[in-house]
Amino acid sequence: MSSRYGLAKATLFTFFASALASIGFFIVSTMEFSRIKSEQRDLLIDMTNSFVAVYADNRHPDTAVPATFRRQGVEHFSDTLASNESAISSVRLPGVPGLEISVKEADQRLADKIAAMARSDAPVSLEEHQFEDGRFIARTMSPSIANSEGCVSCHNDILGAEIYEIGDVMGAFVVESDLTNQTVKNLVYSLAVFVVTAFLITLFVMRERGRMSEVVEGLKARVLLEREKAEAEANAHFHARHDTLTKLSNRAVFMERIDRAMASGARDDMIIALIDLDDFKIVNDSMGHDAGDALLVALGARLAAIAEAAGGLAARLGGDEFALFCRASGGGARSEQSLERVILERASARVDHGGLDIRPSISVGLARFAAAATSEELLKAADAALYRAKELGKGRVQWFDASIRVRMERRAQLALALPDALAKGAVRAVFQPQVALDSGRLMGFEALARWEHEGEPVPPTEFVSIAEERGLVAELDLHVLRSALAFAAGATSDTALPVAISANLSAKTLLAPRLSAAILRMLAEARWDPRRLTLEITETRMIKNLDHAIAALRPLRERGVRISLDDFGTGFSSLSYLRHLPVDELKIDKSFVTGIEHDEESFAVLKGVLDLALGLGKSVVVEGIETARQLEMIRAFEVSVGQGFYIAKPLEAVEAAALTKTAQTRLIDPRPYEVDVAS
Ligand code: C2E
Ligand code: CA
Ligand code: CA
Repeated sequence: MSSRYGLAKATLFTFFASALASIGFFIVSTMEFSRIKSEQRDLLIDMTNSFVAVYADNRHPDTAVPATFRRQGVEHFSDTLASNESAISSVRLPGVPGLEISVKEADQRLADKIAAMARSDAPVSLEEHQFEDGRFIARTMSPSIANSEGCVSCHNDILGAEIYEIGDVMGAFVVESDLTNQTVKNLVYSLAVFVVTAFLITLFVMRERGRMSEVVEGLKARVLLEREKAEAEANAHFHARHDTLTKLSNRAVFMERIDRAMASGARDDMIIALIDLDDFKIVNDSMGHDAGDALLVALGARLAAIAEAAGGLAARLGGDEFALFCRASGGGARSEQSLERVILERASARVDHGGLDIRPSISVGLARFAAAATSEELLKAADAALYRAKELGKGRVQWFDASIRVRMERRAQLALALPDALAKGAVRAVFQPQVALDSGRLMGFEALARWEHEGEPVPPTEFVSIAEERGLVAELDLHVLRSALAFAAGATSDTALPVAISANLSAKTLLAPRLSAAILRMLAEARWDPRRLTLEITETRMIKNLDHAIAALRPLRERGVRISLDDFGTGFSSLSYLRHLPVDELKIDKSFVTGIEHDEESFAVLKGVLDLALGLGKSVVVEGIETARQLEMIRAFEVSVGQGFYIAKPLEAVEAAALTKTAQTRLIDPRPYEVDVAS
């Protein structure tokens, strides 16, 4: 657009400049031509005059006219007209003794005219003669033979003296100009000037335009480059400080903001909240990752709106964990309660994703600024509260308080003591029997870790999670496994009972390098048949692709080690995913057993999970059987193995070994309808 406009301007400029140049040329050349012509004319008149004067001085009837003068005058004038030597024609003026005038004239008609005039008796006039082809000839003086009285007196009148007599040559032709021709020539030249000027200007303009456009393009490119750089920097800055998906600030920005708020002092009514989506994995697995992303984006936007209204900041700390920093306006219990309500209500409002109805459930951990001295501490406090909220059953809000502080401090203490306990072998294994549900016979044991800290037993869930957090869990798991193999090898060497051993592996342990090799070595050292070892793995959030993690155990599985999926039913993996998972056993979580004898709905849920598990064609173990009634109800299904306090509690190694000594150990009665071969 602008370039076309520029081209039009340049063309217009070229045209006018060239026109001006050619007009200027025309005017100057015409003026110059006139000047030269008038100079020539003056010269010719002078020459003629001197010719006449000399002739007059030498005039005598007997004296011949000097030929040079005569010739010079006429030839010179004719030259100005004739451009082509070859076209010159000579005219002899007859009838006048001693007088020869040769006329060089390209134009025969003009030559004839001159000759005619030379011969003519008519008085010479100063008139102009126009020829047909447009050439314009002016005559100021005629060479004339004074052959009549009238002619002589006429010339003498003009010259103001008595100088001519009959028979004298009185003048010469002066061909003054060929104005028309010259004008046409000048016009042609002007046109040429126009064309050449236009050409030169165009060349110049094009070169300049080329140069200018190069400069402009260079400038444009630089501007573009600068802009891109600035954008990239801005982008990088944004990405360094924001989460790409939700566009919320990231952890670093959030922490900075809290640090600033803490530094500024006013902190009575300031709080932070950690918000975690409950069972986010279910959404991802059952509705797809798009739905998961949509849920995260929606939750992010809602938290951002809450933060904006309260003059705070919302951030995404990672995964499905968000944080909020704001004022509980005015402070006090009531404003805190209303904030809790706002977060819970807004965040759990339904999200529509392409017709899919997602109903998010969130757990929230809240901490007041007063609870901590630094931003790190504050985040830890909120995190501990969130952890507690999850423990207490999700979908709820929990403030950080004194009891959580005690738990936190205890956890810190345990974390400090655990490495030492592991190194000194203070962590030991106990063994919970597993029985065949039909015959009631002992099938094997699940090894479970035990630790007493300062004389007090620490729940395994607690120290296992600490071990996971501190990167100690592989060491813990392998330690328990080694103890279990040692126990099993010793306990069963002198008995015919082929018991099996199950041991737990944290999902984090699966990430340990050379895990399979280490376990194979242990098996070899204990001389334990790999087919009598089951490794229980819980599907957790820590591992995105359980199948990849389990793949690390392939060398073990190839040698016969069985893989069991622990706490089955709580991981919410999709059916197709489960079907292709390389596991041999599914262990139904004890939460599905709780309450089945009192509550039809619970039983229906257990039935659903069992149907699913059995449908997958793997062997199924039910754990957490606490009562005879539960056992009876579970026996209605094709479940092969059971485990639970009703059958046997976890036993110390000595007790467990004693149990294996009784060759035909029955921990429960066989099924009433079972034909018992042994008894
Ligand atoms: P888990 O693997 O599901 O182990 C079964 C848990 O259920 C054991 O708890 C066991 O004592 C308990 N239990 C057995 N029968 C019943 C019953 O009838 N009713 C009830 N309410 N509970 C029953 P424990 O020993 O406290 O272990 C808890 C969890 O800690 C285990 O759950 C397992 O996830 C983890 N854990 C224990 N030892 C280890 C270990 O050596 N390595 C790893 N990674 N995790 C371990
Ligand atoms: Ca287990
Ligand atoms: Ca379990």
